[in-house]
Amino acid sequence: MKDLHGQEQDLLGSRPLPPHQIQQNICLSKNDFQEWSIEDSNETYQFSNWSDGYFKIDSHGNLCVDVLQQGEKHYIKLNEVIQECKRDNLEFPLVLRFHDILRNQVKKLNLTFNQIIQEAGYQGEYFGVFPVKVNQMREVVEEIVDAGLEFNYGLEAGSKPELIAALANNNNPKSLTILNGYKDREYLKLSLLGKRLKKNIVVVIEKFSELVELVDLIQEEGMEEPPMIGLRGKLSTRSSGKWSDSSGDFAKFGLTAPDLLKCIKLLKENNLLGATKLLHFHVGSQIPDIRTIKDCITEGARIYCELKELGVPLEYFDVGGGIGVNYDGSQTATASSINYNLEEYIRDVIYITQEVCDEKKINHPHIVTESGRYITAHHSMIITDVFGHINLIDYNVNEFNFNNNDHSIVKNLKELYEDFNRTNFLETFHDIEVLKEEAIAAFKLGVISLVERAKIETLYWSLCQKIIQECENSEHVIPDEIKALIPKFSQKYLCNFSVFQSTADTWGIGQILPVAPLTRLNERPDINAQLADITCDSDGKIDAFLSKEGRSKTVKLHGLEKGEEYLIGIFLTGAYQDIMGDNHNLFGRVNEAHIYFDEEEDQNFYVEETIRGNKKSHVLSSVQYSPYELCKTIKQSLDRLIKNGEIRPREGVKLADFYDQSLFSYTYLTNSSNLNKSQNKKIQ
Ligand SMILES: *Cc1c(COP(=O)(O)O)cnc(C)c1O
Repeated sequence: MKDLHGQEQDLLGSRPLPPHQIQQNICLSKNDFQEWSIEDSNETYQFSNWSDGYFKIDSHGNLCVDVLQQGEKHYIKLNEVIQECKRDNLEFPLVLRFHDILRNQVKKLNLTFNQIIQEAGYQGEYFGVFPVKVNQMREVVEEIVDAGLEFNYGLEAGSKPELIAALANNNNPKSLTILNGYKDREYLKLSLLGKRLKKNIVVVIEKFSELVELVDLIQEEGMEEPPMIGLRGKLSTRSSGKWSDSSGDFAKFGLTAPDLLKCIKLLKENNLLGATKLLHFHVGSQIPDIRTIKDCITEGARIYCELKELGVPLEYFDVGGGIGVNYDGSQTATASSINYNLEEYIRDVIYITQEVCDEKKINHPHIVTESGRYITAHHSMIITDVFGHINLIDYNVNEFNFNNNDHSIVKNLKELYEDFNRTNFLETFHDIEVLKEEAIAAFKLGVISLVERAKIETLYWSLCQKIIQECENSEHVIPDEIKALIPKFSQKYLCNFSVFQSTADTWGIGQILPVAPLTRLNERPDINAQLADITCDSDGKIDAFLSKEGRSKTVKLHGLEKGEEYLIGIFLTGAYQDIMGDNHNLFGRVNEAHIYFDEEEDQNFYVEETIRGNKKSHVLSSVQYSPYELCKTIKQSLDRLIKNGEIRPREGVKLADFYDQSLFSYTYLTNSSNLNKSQNKKIQ
């Protein structure tokens, strides 16, 4: 990460921006006068392709949540939720959690499994578990456990703290609690405690040495009834996408064929083979391609049958997690998307397992899945306010006097500028590319002056802008060479959030997350924008978006209106993003509101709980500062200045109070809802 303090300060400070003038010169085409409909917004932001039916635009152009997918009468309007949060003094950035979406996803997963099991005449049952690592938040886990009670839906833990939480949370004696991840003696001991508490614990062995330790511990404790033991197989089938290293011969997890045989021998020798009930594999998160899933199930089911034939009394076939989320709406086998849906995934799991087992005359196992992303991704979103924008390319031809003494390159460009029209834009683009190159060479040779260079750059960029506008307004496909220009003209919308805290995967692994304004969806968005966050880091930005044509470096947003709040939603943040956030620049956790659907309420919802984000005192304590000491030090400095007569005592007290107050308040920016005076010009 680069520290760009100097530069970013400039961007974030109140530097007055030059007026935005180029666009005034642009000739309008008939498209500018066409109406913009809600359908157009739907196409631009692709809500129906990525939101699984949860996010919709109402007839007034406001974004709504349709948690139960029952139509407009039941919509929860995001702007009404925000008004309610404001009354509660919750400032932006703000995370909204829709608990009904969580419940709905748990239900969909279980009901679809049950339905396909029945349809296939499959003999086993479905026992899903939720992998706590995807979102450990207590309210989230509790909601999932509660919604899953009727389906005996359990929990999966991958570390000691997660297990400690899972042991307390999973009180359904019929559902499973599965332990994955590398384990030390204490972790294994916690699993034995779970067994003593009468929970359906399965300890999944990741490597041989864990089994040695487990056997030792069971003997030491003299347990008559050991917990269930699972074996994690290492498949040679590999996934594609960003998590492909979780599987394949060189994955860091799982037992190879020789390892499995070694485990069986040890289990037999210690009379524990009877406890070995589960075969597990997990080939990676966000599996983009259904063919990978088919291959994995086939390979896994073969291993299952082989182990059964070797006398291992397995009963559960645990196919891990990995159901992907269609983040970019493309429905393709690419990293931010998937080429299948839930039904197809489940049909493959059930029918392939059935076929492989039938062939070997092995009883159908109970099926376990550990899909987390599928359950939680949709239920939360982050809302940020835009507090300004910066325009990196801002030139005005009218600021210059052009005359006969200008160099011929300047004259040529000026002519092209004046003759520009709808039919010659591509030719003009090719001409100005050459002229600009010649100009730079000429400048280096001392043939043209700095003033002439300034004229050339201004004419060049102004023409580029006209060309883009022309392309965007035409019905034709935009040529690639012009498309490449668009991000250069994009406006950076300064957004009150931290990429590192709230959308870590957009930064870390180039994951696409849907981004859209929450209001004005019945107005044409005519700004090509990128989002810049408030950290002092050049990586603190979002510059990859979904669009109807595929991936784009910019997103269409509306011009900022004076004194009017402009809110942007970043969606599908419920899986992993919540928890992977870090404290870059010490922004910390953000404010949160938990929303429940309620038909009886006027606005279809109520806010069940709000959670305050971090105060500055909190994030500072986490890096070893004592808020008390900090206040004391500042007070001492002020006292000295007062003693020297440099500050009046009354003012000294005021300053100390201000430091104190600031220390105990929210870390993010407070937007007085008026945009900075110099930045609030409407951009048209
Ligand atoms: C991460 C993980 C999961 C969850 O994967 P999703 O892609 O979120 O469904 C399940 N099982 C194991 C072992 C994991 O490591």
